[in-house]
Amino acid sequence: MPQATTKLNAFPVFVRVEGEAVAIVGGGEQALAKARLIAQSSAVLYIIAANAEPELLAFIAETGANHVAAGYDASRLEGAVMVFAASGDETLDRRVAADARRLGIPVNAVDRPDLCDFFTPALVNRAPVAIAIGTEGAGPVLAQMLRGRIDRMLSPSLGALAALAASFRNAAERLPRGNIRRRFWSDFFGGAPARAVEAGEFSRAREAAADLLTSDAPVRGHIALVGAGPGAEDLLTLRAHRLLMEADVIVHDALVPEAVVAMGRRDAERLPVGKRKGCHTKSQAEINALLVELGRAGKRVVRLKSGDPLVFGRAGEEMAALRDAGIAYEVVPGVTAAFAAAADFELPLTLRGVSSSMVFTTGHDLKGNSLPDWAKLAISGATVAVYMGRSVAAEVAGRLIEAGLSPDTAVAVVENASLTNRRRFHGTLADLPSLEARADLSGPVMTIIGDAVAGANFERSEPLAAHRHAPVAATEGVQP
Ligand code: SAH
Repeated sequence: MPQATTKLNAFPVFVRVEGEAVAIVGGGEQALAKARLIAQSSAVLYIIAANAEPELLAFIAETGANHVAAGYDASRLEGAVMVFAASGDETLDRRVAADARRLGIPVNAVDRPDLCDFFTPALVNRAPVAIAIGTEGAGPVLAQMLRGRIDRMLSPSLGALAALAASFRNAAERLPRGNIRRRFWSDFFGGAPARAVEAGEFSRAREAAADLLTSDAPVRGHIALVGAGPGAEDLLTLRAHRLLMEADVIVHDALVPEAVVAMGRRDAERLPVGKRKGCHTKSQAEINALLVELGRAGKRVVRLKSGDPLVFGRAGEEMAALRDAGIAYEVVPGVTAAFAAAADFELPLTLRGVSSSMVFTTGHDLKGNSLPDWAKLAISGATVAVYMGRSVAAEVAGRLIEAGLSPDTAVAVVENASLTNRRRFHGTLADLPSLEARADLSGPVMTIIGDAVAGANFERSEPLAAHRHAPVAATEGVQP
């Protein structure tokens, strides 16, 4: 068995190419792939091909690369800082590699590692920041996979932030070496300047960086109210994931699964504040106070809420407390439970000619005497998503029917939407009350009502009404 080596046989470096000539020999797909890669730099590209394929010609026209439309000979390579033998013709590629080597120019021959002086990496480009991934030719697929992963981790505005950093380098040199300078840069890349760049507000970013240079005020904290999505880790947004990776503290609700919280930075402090057996439960006022306290302590906090933070998430109160305390915050949307439930059911929430509006409601406002506005919308054809609706299922169904919605209106119910242990139920408004009596549903439940529900896929769902007729329901289901 080959001994695994811990030494690199190809060492990564960054080659200066600005304004320098790079020569690619070849007129086909391989040449185009290399041309695309090099075109991400400010090198001057020479494509040497007597016969270039249409796609390559289009690329040349589009990018203004130089096309040497002539047969190959060694003199074409002169003056280049690197050469690619990418003709797809082994004899020609060998000749190109030999010529380049004789001229003292490093060469890469596509798919012939034995002829290569250097390899091209899979590249994550956030110019001026570049992340190059190399596998010494062992696995292009592996390299692309890593590339994708790293790309998702990094903010699209990283390049702009790095460019801004470069413009502050001289000023930062005037700070005392050591802790103070380090602190400046860590606040620059992790604090207000970075957030302003992220929001596309460059002059605010510049001001924030200038503030960091001059003030010796303590670092200001920042709270991100982040939607964790309905439960599946991979329904977290990229932005949510990035913030989780940067957080000092993660404050999360009980509904956010452990697997999602675990996506955060490993050494971030985790504070559960939700209502779940065995974990400390805080009142909303206590949560508000906690967020303010963490912000004052200069922490980068992710306040993780299930679904979308602005849908039945009490984010309004938390934002008000933060505003009053003068603590910076932002909101990151998430996939709300209604959308996850609809996806699980392949249920069109709007359906041409059937339903063109949608209501997010709790049903808890049905307890009063007057019918809330949303009930009227339901009657006029809106699709209704009922959050926290299990304990008021009978009330919701009864009042809607009383108000004129047909008892035959389609209803879809999903427990644990988006998770592997989800359960789906379908039926009609007349069946909905049976939901309250079900002791077998312990996860969060989303109910969707409306004619558009009829367009869902019921292949993997159980009938809602079955429970009504089950012997156990006959006794247990009766309301006092
Ligand atoms: N902010 C959240 C809602 C919080 S209220 C969001 O946007 O989704 C809590 C209610 O959301 C639960 O009672 C349930 O009705 C619904 N819910 C949350 N996660 C769910 C899930 N995975 N499956 C079904 N319903 C869910």
